[in-house]
Amino acid sequence: MKSKEDSWERFLQVMEDALGKPTFETCLKFSILKKINNGKAVIQVSSAFAKERLETKYVGIMKDTLQKIYDSPGLDLALEVDENLLPTRPDLPEQMEFYKQEQDDIPENSLDPRYTLESFVVGNSNQFATGAALAVSRSPGKVYNPLLIFGGVGLGKTHLMQAIGNNVLARKKKARVVYLSTERFINEMIDAMAKKKIEKFRKKYRTVDVLLVDDIQFLVNKEFTQEEFFHTFNELYGANKQIVMTCDRLPRELFIDKRLSSRFEWGLTADIQEPDLETREAILRKKAEQKGISLPNSVIHYIAERVPSNVRELEGALLRVLAFGTFRRQPVNTELAQEALKGIIPEGREQIPTVEKIIEKVASYFDIKTEEIMSDRRDRRFAYPRQIAMFLSREITNLSYPDLAKKFRRDHTTVLHAYEKISTNLHDISVRNSVDNIRSALKVS
Ligand code: ADP
Ligand code: MG
Repeated sequence: MKSKEDSWERFLQVMEDALGKPTFETCLKFSILKKINNGKAVIQVSSAFAKERLETKYVGIMKDTLQKIYDSPGLDLALEVDENLLPTRPDLPEQMEFYKQEQDDIPENSLDPRYTLESFVVGNSNQFATGAALAVSRSPGKVYNPLLIFGGVGLGKTHLMQAIGNNVLARKKKARVVYLSTERFINEMIDAMAKKKIEKFRKKYRTVDVLLVDDIQFLVNKEFTQEEFFHTFNELYGANKQIVMTCDRLPRELFIDKRLSSRFEWGLTADIQEPDLETREAILRKKAEQKGISLPNSVIHYIAERVPSNVRELEGALLRVLAFGTFRRQPVNTELAQEALKGIIPEGREQIPTVEKIIEKVASYFDIKTEEIMSDRRDRRFAYPRQIAMFLSREITNLSYPDLAKKFRRDHTTVLHAYEKISTNLHDISVRNSVDNIRSALKVS
């Protein structure tokens, strides 16, 4: 029987291959398996940064590999931070300094050095946004301010935004570039208020040259933060400092303070669409190349075909295939890829979602309650999502208007009207983007 230590070593080995050396060394190298029982594994990692990065990108593959190695299907995984893990490695004095230093630097800009323009594959779906990103990083604060990049989940918004930051720094080492997620902005603000350090907080964000704020859709329903963000925005804008934001939709589709959403669209808005097959293949080639692996075209083509839209999932599928190869000690070919992806990405048609499911997804997308969609409230905040829900229900389920009317508890002419209204507005990129995002959340195309 294999010992526990052997299995853990094996796990680390597979992960090193799957994640690539740099990520592995910063995120997983010093980790320990705290326990594995009752269907759950707990891994301790050395920093909050490592935890965040593993959680956003690699939990799937980690879980998968643990399940195989420990022969425990369905095994769940939790990550914990233990910052003592680094200094307790006396065998690595030099690296230790390096890692500690890297961690201390993170709050300053937390840019991922791998997210560059060079590593970003340009295709029809993102050409415009990439051009805008390049222009902005060449003359921050001067050409398009603010720059807003919008598009669905996993299409490269964060990558492109961070590439702007990295590019600005490459040109001007001393530039103050700050990248942060909207969630982090909110948390820091709350924390600063609790500690009565709001002045310090304000100063921190109001003295930067380039402020990169990721996923501003999280400002919805956070009036307090919107207010603070509004002031930060105005000050930076007034001082000609560059602001770049990403959002999963156009701000006008976000139900936030109008003063704020209109400002977000003052500069340039650039969309990122789903990549076509050719671009997906190019992305896979690039990712494999970055790991120093060359894959047969047939395998690239197979993976690209199987994962039609989300680039993050595309990357996940690639990792899975590579890990599978390492685990089996077999060369990667289409047969192996097929087996690695079996059951992960459904072949053939998915089940058609029900009207209830559609309503639920629409409500969650617009951050309102399903009852509010079902209610008679007429403000745009509810009426618009309701129309989208009716439109999508008709498109996806193909139920008749009278049947839909029953589901929505209204007149069938109301549903008909909603359907026609949204159909005629689909040429509007903001409407189209929201409809596409919800479709992709429902996993229908
Ligand atoms: P989003 O922020 O839109 O949800 P991300 O920027 O996090 O998406 O992208 C998800 C993953 O896909 C990242 O690892 C990113 O490097 C990769 N990716 C997305 N688009 C591209 C592209 N055009 N070229 C290379 N990698 C890409
Ligand atoms: Mg993102």
